[in-house]
Amino acid sequence: MGSGHVEASVETTKRGVYGFDREVVQTGPATGLPVTSTEGETAGGPVRFRPYDGAMTSIAPGSPRDRRVSERIGAIAESATLKVDAKAKALKAEGRPVVGFGAGEPDFPTPDYIVEAAVTAARDARNHRYTPAGGLPELKAAIVAKTERDSGLVVEPAQVLVTNGGKQAIYGAFAAMLDPGDEVIVPAPYWTTYPEAIALAGGVPVEVLADETQDYKVTVEQLEAARTERTKVLLFVSPSNPTGAVYTADEIRAIGAWVEEHRLWVLTDEIYEHLVYDDADTGSLPVLCPELAEHCVIVNGVAKTYAMTGWRVGWMIGPKDLVKAATNLQSHATSNVANVSQRAAIAALEGDLSAVAEMKSAFDRRRHTIVSMLNEIDGVVCPMPGGAFYAYPSVKGLLGREHGGRTITTSAELAEYILDEAEVAIVPGEAFGSPGYLRLSYALGDDDIVEGITRLQKLFS
Ligand code: PMP
Repeated sequence: MGSGHVEASVETTKRGVYGFDREVVQTGPATGLPVTSTEGETAGGPVRFRPYDGAMTSIAPGSPRDRRVSERIGAIAESATLKVDAKAKALKAEGRPVVGFGAGEPDFPTPDYIVEAAVTAARDARNHRYTPAGGLPELKAAIVAKTERDSGLVVEPAQVLVTNGGKQAIYGAFAAMLDPGDEVIVPAPYWTTYPEAIALAGGVPVEVLADETQDYKVTVEQLEAARTERTKVLLFVSPSNPTGAVYTADEIRAIGAWVEEHRLWVLTDEIYEHLVYDDADTGSLPVLCPELAEHCVIVNGVAKTYAMTGWRVGWMIGPKDLVKAATNLQSHATSNVANVSQRAAIAALEGDLSAVAEMKSAFDRRRHTIVSMLNEIDGVVCPMPGGAFYAYPSVKGLLGREHGGRTITTSAELAEYILDEAEVAIVPGEAFGSPGYLRLSYALGDDDIVEGITRLQKLFS
């Protein structure tokens, strides 16, 4: 443990295929200021990423023309999840019998009534035009109604911004909220986009790791240990990608009370809200913690609930001034979400939830299959996820051993070995800030799941 003062040098971990250029720092107990320490000492401690803010990092030498890609954008890592998915799809296109557990998207088609609404909209010339930057008023009204129906939260249309997927809502929210150096606490394992979106906005992601022994859920004590005077936002997601962890209502209330006590903001990602199994006692953070209303941003979208990943419709809900700022940004970046997609989203939100109910029962069945089959492999420990469609086993028991003549020490190497030898595509935990794990999406057919995991069982038998 460091002694509470800031040292001059920092340990940086090497940027890997799935990694980020980051400092390993630990919060000093006395001052709350970051102190340096060795990596070994920080296991489980907060990790602070390097900000891309020009005031804090020096620009590489050379003429402007020689610096081909800006430091800010050059530092972004390719989305590891999309990369694994692309590799699996390319192998499949070559005729290889690849089983892909990489993609984070439902394997169901978008329900017909939504597709029909889009076809009708595409034939109407009024929809061949721009919409208001913030979204069609009818869609905003549908989002307001849906939020009250599904979460019990009452909001106004002026609090809603329609975005190109939940992803753009996350980027827009952080861009609107963060000044250079502002810290965002990011529970890890985290979805691979969060740290990049935060850093792009000039913020500093601070990781707090929760492993399988705590069901991948952070505690208030851990959050408090990561808080500094620069902490502005807590990133919260339940159900979680990549772990499927679902926080209980009591856990959410405790975290909300901590956010309020320290006058922080919270960004809560509710994209998997309808994929909660076993009637878990959970809920929407701003409903369970109404005192946070003025300092809470919700991210949501149609992608996972209606099998609409390709339509690119999401939204953010927040205080009006913040939403207005994010809308101004969007008006210069993308103008608006495709008009026809917005019409499809209206049909989705105005319809019922029967499509997601069907998908949910299939995912629930697959969840049991994949988790029990994974746990049959010696060296793999897979907790039962409470939501979303991801299993997140620890594979630490397989590491440091020889497999097929290769010594495999990291989960990234293991994922590569599995793809090479068994033609099964899986995303390694390195992509989610937690080496030693694998993420397997179970949003694929039951037979494919059995085939893919049987191959793993054989590979490691
Ligand atoms: N949040 C989480 C946790 C996600 O897993 C995803 C999709 N992988 C998104 C947001 C964004 O979804 P989209 O941009 O497709 O709406």
